[in-house]
Amino acid sequence: MQTLIEHYESAIRLGAFVGMLVVMGLWETVAPARRLAVSRWLRWANNLGLVVLNTLLLRLLFPAAAVGVAMAARSQDWGVLNLWELPPALAIVLSLIVLDFAIWLQHVIFHAIPALWRLHRVHHADLDYDVTTGLRFHPVEILLSMLIKFAVILLLGPPVTAVILFEVLLNAGAMFNHGNVRLPPALDRILRWFIVTPDMHRVHHSVEDDEANSNFGFNLSWWDRLMGTYREQPRAGHEGMTIGIRAYRTPRAVTWLPGLLALPFRGRISSYAINRRQWEDAPRE
Ligand SMILES: [Zn+2]
Repeated sequence: MQTLIEHYESAIRLGAFVGMLVVMGLWETVAPARRLAVSRWLRWANNLGLVVLNTLLLRLLFPAAAVGVAMAARSQDWGVLNLWELPPALAIVLSLIVLDFAIWLQHVIFHAIPALWRLHRVHHADLDYDVTTGLRFHPVEILLSMLIKFAVILLLGPPVTAVILFEVLLNAGAMFNHGNVRLPPALDRILRWFIVTPDMHRVHHSVEDDEANSNFGFNLSWWDRLMGTYREQPRAGHEGMTIGIRAYRTPRAVTWLPGLLALPFRGRISSYAINRRQWEDAPRE
């Protein structure tokens, strides 16, 4: 099984990406959760253009990728999991859980540190919320995320298969939970105990600071519940809430690719320190 996954890695990655894009795209067309504010084709062209740019950049700078780092860790016996002879299935499940927590923590850090927020706000500035929102990140954030992932892999020593599965699941999960779709409420409630649903993550893309600083999870919904950053629903409801960032709302700045690349470098340096944010309309507790 493991060798099979390693052997067909590229096909699995591409198949999951294209499959998810088609399925979510059709679902969003047939039963959208919200009306879109901007032309879908304009957003898709620019968001997917950024994906192509990021993919080329990663290939160029890190040709061995995370899988290469996991292989190096395995051959050198680096990382906690390479110290013991765990059953492969257990090592894979443990790795998936630890990597998911690491990505949750990284996401919180990208919100907390002003310089990193500048990069991450490219993801948040999308005026609509759909499958391609889940894919659009500034190239510098993509590169930093990759370096953080390398460090986690070197410390953890996960099986190579786990790294492939994690990357495929993270990609597919992000496309699912950024979908402009709604699950039946009862199903959403049950799923949310385990995984992040579109309604759960949509709260995180609200213009309201307190809502945007909740529901950081990408795959497992446990971390937000355990760490106290979970929020059930947006105050204005899913159709009434405003998606994006208050300060940047023109299509030139937040829809077109050149604007997306320039966005981290705009605005005053001190405008978003964690202790100086506007917490408008936050309920007093
Ligand atoms: Zn975020």
